[in-house]
Amino acid sequence: MAYAFEKLPQLVDKRGKLVHNGWYGKRKNGIASITTRVWHHSLTKLSAGGSKIESFADFHVRTNGWPEIAYHLIIDPKHVVNGKATIYYCVDISKRSYHVGNSNTISLGICVIGDYRTDQLDTPTLKSIQDLHAALIKDGIGKYDKAHNEMPGYSWKDCCVYSYQKAFKETSADNLPVKGTEPEEVPGLYTIQEGDTFWSIALKEKKDGLTVEDLIAANPDVKPTELKVGQTIKLGAAKNNYRPMPEMSKKPESAYQYPLPSGVLKKGTRGDSVSQLQKALAAVHFYPNKNAKNQGVDGIFGIDTENALRRFQMVYVPYQVDGVYGPNTKEKLQAVLKSKGY
Ligand SMILES: [Zn+2]
Repeated sequence: MAYAFEKLPQLVDKRGKLVHNGWYGKRKNGIASITTRVWHHSLTKLSAGGSKIESFADFHVRTNGWPEIAYHLIIDPKHVVNGKATIYYCVDISKRSYHVGNSNTISLGICVIGDYRTDQLDTPTLKSIQDLHAALIKDGIGKYDKAHNEMPGYSWKDCCVYSYQKAFKETSADNLPVKGTEPEEVPGLYTIQEGDTFWSIALKEKKDGLTVEDLIAANPDVKPTELKVGQTIKLGAAKNNYRPMPEMSKKPESAYQYPLPSGVLKKGTRGDSVSQLQKALAAVHFYPNKNAKNQGVDGIFGIDTENALRRFQMVYVPYQVDGVYGPNTKEKLQAVLKSKGY
């Protein structure tokens, strides 16, 4: 028997049809696990070309390294049919998707495309929010509604900034508050948006020749692993900030404080080359095991070293998060070491 929400005429089933790399697991107690309907906005401006489900799926899978797109259901104001915004059904509600960390297993992720710090909910979008909300209540899916930033640990997030409670009641956009004022753009600065990494920012700006290494060099006080939405980083002046010293490139590899092994290292490998890799990872704060003796530098490529390498790859080589050390990872690790003055 189909759920009421599945019968909504503006719903388009995209389950299994978007880019993925594996699949999310099932919720422990199935649909009964869902207590909370969590409302998000995509933080991408409606006017931006990448404001569409295919781009989100690509970002979540290829950049963030997640198995599938983050949200179960996505409302798209740019595709209106019969006066209602299209609702894309992206991840089966029985699955535990990644959108609210520790609360994933009890939460249903619903995203309205747009950056509602500046965009405004329109009438077709309000209608679809209301239809979906009413259908989910009828189906008994979830008991509470919360914004992303009302979930434990997310009070710092700008998500969602539209009033979902008002959206459930208002039938016309005319009764909603007028759109917020554009956050003031400071020349040369960039404000971190949901899902951003140094790598994704450099990729967006690639046409200008900006690299991850430039961003690291221009922002010495910023930890690339701990970017927060709303945080500003130096972008405009970052280009070409990273300049390897000419004499450095002449230095024989053995003269480096952390010489890197060549070839491929993976789980099961042992020896000096593994120690070299572990020391280099620890030097840039990706410790194999921070609490162990020598911070886990033991010459054995086990699960801890693989985890440390994956964490490094998530930030610097996110198109290749495989826990295997090879030429691409070596190149990035070398650059990060250089940027830290090693
Ligand atoms: Zn969110």
